[in-house]
Amino acid sequence: MTKVVIDPGHGGSDPGACYGEWREADFAWAIADALYRMVKPSKRIQALMTRPPHAGVSLQGRVRQANDWDAHIFLSIHLNAAPLGANRTEAAGSEVWHFPGSTQGARLAEALGAGLIAEFPFGGYRGEKSAADFFVLKGTRMPAALVEVGFITNPATMALLQREDEQEAVAFGLLSGILAL
Ligand SMILES: [Zn+2]
Repeated sequence: MTKVVIDPGHGGSDPGACYGEWREADFAWAIADALYRMVKPSKRIQALMTRPPHAGVSLQGRVRQANDWDAHIFLSIHLNAAPLGANRTEAAGSEVWHFPGSTQGARLAEALGAGLIAEFPFGGYRGEKSAADFFVLKGTRMPAALVEVGFITNPATMALLQREDEQEAVAFGLLSGILAL
């Protein structure tokens, strides 16, 4: 039994990145929920969601849930946003973050990236990246990764990510990554 914490980024009073009507928190939740529903019948994977659809939870609360549950994998789901500028709508692609120096985190990020790009190739894969300042990657005691599925500032990306079948494809890609570990 593999215990997977699914962490939809932001929520509640924190919408995450916004572009027009789109709020990162809503899309992060939709993808996370698609993944949760996908693994629910599984006897091989048990999943826990860190927050409900319309409420947020502190970063400490997310980390605490994962550590208290002794999860095997922590997966945080986010959307990227390009900085203000002339070509703001052009940035595209997926990337996966892990904590620097974490071999298992890097392996998880690589597997998730490969799974994701096979199912959601739009914009290409920007690769695995590491950063020390993501609280959820730093505080969790199990292999952890933070997926930036695509850019909320890219209308072509969002035309896809608004569709339930594409949200499910992203979720399936992430699940394939988990199963490939
Ligand atoms: Zn985010």
